[in-house]
Amino acid sequence: MKLVFLGPPGAGKGTLAAKAVELLQIPHISTGAIFRAAIAARTPLGIKVKEIIDAGKLVDDETTIALVRERLAAEDAQKGYILDGFPRTIAQADALDSFSKVDRVVNFDIPDGAVIERLSGRRVCKNCGANYHILFTKPKTEGRCDLCGGELYTRDDDQSDAIQRRLEVYRAQTAPLIDYYRGKGLLVDVDARPAVDQVIENFRKALHL
Ligand code: AMP
Repeated sequence: MKLVFLGPPGAGKGTLAAKAVELLQIPHISTGAIFRAAIAARTPLGIKVKEIIDAGKLVDDETTIALVRERLAAEDAQKGYILDGFPRTIAQADALDSFSKVDRVVNFDIPDGAVIERLSGRRVCKNCGANYHILFTKPKTEGRCDLCGGELYTRDDDQSDAIQRRLEVYRAQTAPLIDYYRGKGLLVDVDARPAVDQVIENFRKALHL
């Protein structure tokens, strides 16, 4: 199954995708995670995108589309994938349609207030990228990843200025994709306000899994 996960930053797309991967046995492709790995490894891509990402702006379409096109050509993505954080603009959605046909677009719906609460408490493992939250998904040992023992940190783009910017960018550039995909008959709405396990249940029901 070829899925796109749509929704504002902080809707829980990454956490839900990690769970859905177990359910569906398809790769989770997060453009944000790919960019963060490139930044950590100081590759030319990472150096190019670091400031843009830290400020909560979008990386240019050309760079992002090329990255996804290459990733979707890999063997493991042929039977399906979960695209998390892509597309984020109409131009990216048009490009995606030209090289891969998605089966469903899952729109994780959540109000701004909940987004801000989630993002400001989010902690991410420096080593494996797993997500935690200081109130809702605490690690067993404070500051350490349950999965690999890596150090947990606050993403630069989860600082409050950047959160506001990302919400503005989402409204202006990404939210129009809801109508875009609804018009194509691909959209499935999932209420993302409850706790993760309930949202996963909502997701399963919505997709008849
Ligand atoms: P995310 O982890 O999905 O919240 O992405 C983190 C940041 O990476 C975003 O705020 C953007 O700066 C950048 N990014 C991720 N995906 C895209 C995309 N599809 N288009 C442009 N920028 C992106």
